[in-house]
Amino acid sequence: MQIYELKINRNTCTGCNACVVSCPINFNQLRKQSYLNEENAVILVKNGIAVPVYNKERNINCDGCGICIENCPQQSIRIEVMEGV
Ligand code: SF4
Ligand code: SF4
Repeated sequence: MQIYELKINRNTCTGCNACVVSCPINFNQLRKQSYLNEENAVILVKNGIAVPVYNKERNINCDGCGICIENCPQQSIRIEVMEGV
C-alpha cells in the first residue's frame, strides 16, 4: 500500500487555508460531519501553518491527488510517496 506524505514548506506557507478547503477528502468529511479536526481531516492549518494529518489506524488518508498542491498560492506543498507495510 502506498502512503502519501505531505511536506509543507514552513518558510513559505502563510496558513491561508486554501489547501484545507480544496482537498476533496476534507470536503467529504466536512459534508458528512460538519467539522474538520485531527480525527477526520487529512490536512489542517494549526498555529498559522498547514499540517498534514496521517493516521494509519483510519481508512481515510491523503490519496495523493495533488489538488492541494495546485491550489497552494505559495507552492508550499510537496508529496512524497512511501511504501506502507
Ligand atoms: S495553501 Fe499553501 S500557503 Fe496556504 S495554508 Fe496550504 S500550504 Fe500553506
Ligand atoms: S493530495 Fe489530495 S487528498 Fe492529499 S491533502 Fe492534497 S488534496 Fe487532499
